[in-house]
Amino acid sequence: MATCRVCGKEAAVRLRYANLWLCREHFLEFFERRVERTLRRYGMVREGDRIGVAVSGGKDSMVALYVLSRLGERVGFEVCGLHIDLGISAENYSRVCLQRVVEAFRELGLVYRVLSLKEEYGFTVEEAAKRVRRPQCAVCGLVRRYVLNKMALEMGVTKLATGHHLNDFAVFIVNNVVHANYAYLARLKPMLLARAGLVARIRPLLETPEHDIAAYARFLGIRYADIRCPYGAEEPTKVVGRFLEIVEKRSPGITMMMVRGFIARCLPILESRFGEEEVRACKECGYPTTGDLCAFCRLLRRIGARG
Ligand code: AMP
Ligand code: ZN
Ligand code: ZN
Repeated sequence: MATCRVCGKEAAVRLRYANLWLCREHFLEFFERRVERTLRRYGMVREGDRIGVAVSGGKDSMVALYVLSRLGERVGFEVCGLHIDLGISAENYSRVCLQRVVEAFRELGLVYRVLSLKEEYGFTVEEAAKRVRRPQCAVCGLVRRYVLNKMALEMGVTKLATGHHLNDFAVFIVNNVVHANYAYLARLKPMLLARAGLVARIRPLLETPEHDIAAYARFLGIRYADIRCPYGAEEPTKVVGRFLEIVEKRSPGITMMMVRGFIARCLPILESRFGEEEVRACKECGYPTTGDLCAFCRLLRRIGARG
């Protein structure tokens, strides 16, 4: 029987990258401490912050919500919840997500807001993508970025947290190196500061492997939407993800090393090379943009939706 390294009781989980067996209780403690360390290391939160967690209903952002709620009391920040109902009808995707998210917000007793795209703007992501003949995921990403920012500003959120984790980061890094998108890589930061019209963004699970997120959800009995977006197969990043899994299996810990190394050694160089782009306020809505109209307002015009 494998035993917990801390207390010697029967272990419930093995963390390969650290060659560590832990029982349920000590895993939860280890997990939350690491997120707290990430928050402090990158200066992500301050006492008195109002952290808005963007929750999709999937495992990662749901765990972000629970762990931040638990840490909030300890560190001294407030947590509230944000969800966009994208109206994806295939496989009932959005309905299931919405249900899980609202259950969690209520269980945690949080202030929250749910925005339905259809009700607010008159279209779903599926309809918009069809109308402008662009890939579903591109339209969805654009809409989510814009709408989450708008909701956060309206709710008085000081920082918007997403569920991006260590493996997401690793995939982003490799993908953007492959495509030589160095200017984009320069924006791959633990925290994006607030700018005119843009709320600050933080990624508290940046140093947390996906495997551990799944274990945390299991141990706490967190009910999340265990379905993938039916359009997710379009994403080319999946191949890179599988490649990195193989590498990690062969050399446990290498993903963490790469991401930490990138942030500490590579990001400062990229940032000094690629400064922030010159932006102005969108003529329609004030959102920062390089042109006259922001991408969201251009989308609204093209599909003739109300704004
Ligand atoms: P993804 O691009 O699907 O990996 O999502 C990245 C992050 O965006 C998630 O971890 C969530 O924090 C947030 N997010 C995604 N979809 C939604 C949604 N429908 N409502 C609120 N937040 C979302
Ligand atoms: Zn233990
Ligand atoms: Zn605009």
